[in-house]
Amino acid sequence: MQERIYLCLAHMSGQEMKFIKEAFDTNWVVPLGPNVNGFESDLEQFVGQDKKVAALASGTSAIHLALVQLGVKAGDEVICQSFTFAASANPVVYQGATPVFVDSERDSWNMDPNLLEDAIKDRIAKTGRKPKAIIPVYLYGMPAQIDAIMEIANRYEIPVIEDAAEGFGSRFKGQVCGTFGHFGIMSFNGNKMITTSGGGALICPDEETKRRILFYATQAREPFPYYQHEQIGYNYRMSNICAGIGRGQMTIVDEHIRHHQHVCQRYVELLKDVEGIDVHVNPTPDHDSNYWLNTITIDPEKTGTDYESVRQYLETKNIETRPLWKPMHLQPVYKDAPAYVNGTAESLFQVGLCLPSGPYVTDEHVALIVDEILACRR
Ligand SMILES: *Cc1c(COP(=O)(O)O)cnc(C)c1O
Repeated sequence: MQERIYLCLAHMSGQEMKFIKEAFDTNWVVPLGPNVNGFESDLEQFVGQDKKVAALASGTSAIHLALVQLGVKAGDEVICQSFTFAASANPVVYQGATPVFVDSERDSWNMDPNLLEDAIKDRIAKTGRKPKAIIPVYLYGMPAQIDAIMEIANRYEIPVIEDAAEGFGSRFKGQVCGTFGHFGIMSFNGNKMITTSGGGALICPDEETKRRILFYATQAREPFPYYQHEQIGYNYRMSNICAGIGRGQMTIVDEHIRHHQHVCQRYVELLKDVEGIDVHVNPTPDHDSNYWLNTITIDPEKTGTDYESVRQYLETKNIETRPLWKPMHLQPVYKDAPAYVNGTAESLFQVGLCLPSGPYVTDEHVALIVDEILACRR
């Protein structure tokens, strides 16, 4: 039996234990300390653009604190890409606000700028108020049309929170994703481009904003000798142990990204002459995806099979694949949320599959996976 091939497994550099041991040896076993500071400065160097980065407990908590800092409250609306993982939208509801979902364009699979502007105009017409923020996503690592999105957001003066949880190290026109908007979020969950076992970060515009974010992340404690609280805070800081893993991961992040991109090239090469199966690749030279998860679409007419049959068949071969994210506007929990839809996300959801792409996926694995996919055709 083929040993199981996973979508994306955590992969250590070997440096992680050194940082963790240092934390134990110096008794910094708390949610702050030298590894947290070191990891934040590694991340700041990585993203550039003079941004400041706050290391937090998760990507979800990073989105939540961005919304808190932007003053999103009950009754407000926040525009969110529909084609995404639920964590992009859930923090909007934590604030008592309403997500307004916007569908994707076909090229990048991310937020459609035209539909975004339609949604903004319509929400203003219907509610008399502007949405409080816009959350575009870098799905599977693919850069969104972020220049067009930023142009619209700036014109309406609505802050952008880029959900770069899957897009760590992806670039648009050479600039790192997560650094275009007012805020950008990263995730270091176990299956992301790099991991801290669980964790995330918020990319902030300046030191003062980062200070506010860390204030909310440590229970909004005011500077008094006793514990005084004038706002509601959260326990969202990253632990010094997790940050030690992060520092180790930063020593091989470039290798990880190159590997995911190499795996993409192999899928493209082996599937290029196959009718009805398309690998999702950079739509223009401006897009530079990290290819966190490589994805294909399978045309049932041309192949005589479909994504679910392929998924089930590959499962019998011990190869892990996954359907694309089910769009938020089709989720039962969000059935009442306003949605601006063009059919793109729904139609992709019906034909797409995520393929193994992580550090442990070899060229031989890719060849085997492609052979097995081709065996499904009729
Ligand atoms: C993983 C993910 C998140 C959430 O990150 P966590 O660290 O798991 O909280 C948010 N958005 C997207 C698109 C993700 O894939």
